[in-house]
Amino acid sequence: MPTNIQTKTRMNLALPCDYRKHGIGCPRKRKSIARWCEPHWEAIATTGHVDGRLIPRSAYKAISANAFVYVFANRDHPDIARALDYIRGHVINPGRMPSPPYKKPRGLKQIIEQQVYVELRRLQTPAPVQKGTGVPGEVVTFDRPEPVTAEEVLASCVGVWLAVKLNANLLMNDGECLNFALANGVLLLRRYRLISAWSATGQSLQRRPPGARVRRALGETLRHLSPVCDQIAERLAHCIKETPEQVRARQADENRPLPEAKPNELVVPLPVEPAAPVPAPRLTHYELPARYPRPLLRDLSSSALIAKWSEVERLWSLYPDGKIPVTFKKEN
Ligand SMILES: [Zn+2]
Repeated sequence: MPTNIQTKTRMNLALPCDYRKHGIGCPRKRKSIARWCEPHWEAIATTGHVDGRLIPRSAYKAISANAFVYVFANRDHPDIARALDYIRGHVINPGRMPSPPYKKPRGLKQIIEQQVYVELRRLQTPAPVQKGTGVPGEVVTFDRPEPVTAEEVLASCVGVWLAVKLNANLLMNDGECLNFALANGVLLLRRYRLISAWSATGQSLQRRPPGARVRRALGETLRHLSPVCDQIAERLAHCIKETPEQVRARQADENRPLPEAKPNELVVPLPVEPAAPVPAPRLTHYELPARYPRPLLRDLSSSALIAKWSEVERLWSLYPDGKIPVTFKKEN
């Protein structure tokens, strides 16, 4: 077994990507110590599924804007107020803390907590964006975005939720992938972290997108809002639950309604007798295997076969009818 990460990485790089679909694999080589190649690793880290694709912001931006107006107008309703309180407690207030929860996180749980804090802090303290390069005669402006509010977070969740309901092709599944999609919607509310470094060759910018652990943890936090998101989604688009067949049936019913059924035509479900539990028959005898002639002494493994045969023969001589009675422990 390889012991150090360098050996592990070198051995892993020789293997192809672990992706399989309809029996066809992916020919690219793996990334570092991951099971997947770079594109597949990227997909699973950002969407929660190897085949997943990020939901474009254009798919839910308009819905989120409508949801924001609705949420802001009804922010005193008890259900929405409770959801906003939950968001303030789990998404807004942790990001307002000036220092991270741990000086040196130990263990995966603390590392995830620390990384989530970094992203929530970014949403609360968005970096100003400079417009213009400072060339003489040019105006330099700074765009200073506002911190993210609870209403914004809820509106973004509703936008993603409703976009997914209206177009199921956006998601691979509604478990982890929906969690990731909700988290992605919230994390995209402000610009990702960008680290700039100056060297002899000029400025280099490094993107620091949130990791899979942050997306998963934040998505699981936001998933608790699903009842409220579902309620608001139904208010905003009343026909999302209807399939195309249901829509056509409703329209046909409105145009030319069918006659009401007579009482003898109504289908009434028949009452079903409750099934009585059948007790399992108690085991009284073990069956002995059938008798067979003594195996020949041919090779080294024959002695074991002969020993087994003699054991079966001994039991057959003890119990000639081939049944060994089961003895139960006495209950006291
Ligand atoms: Zn691959």
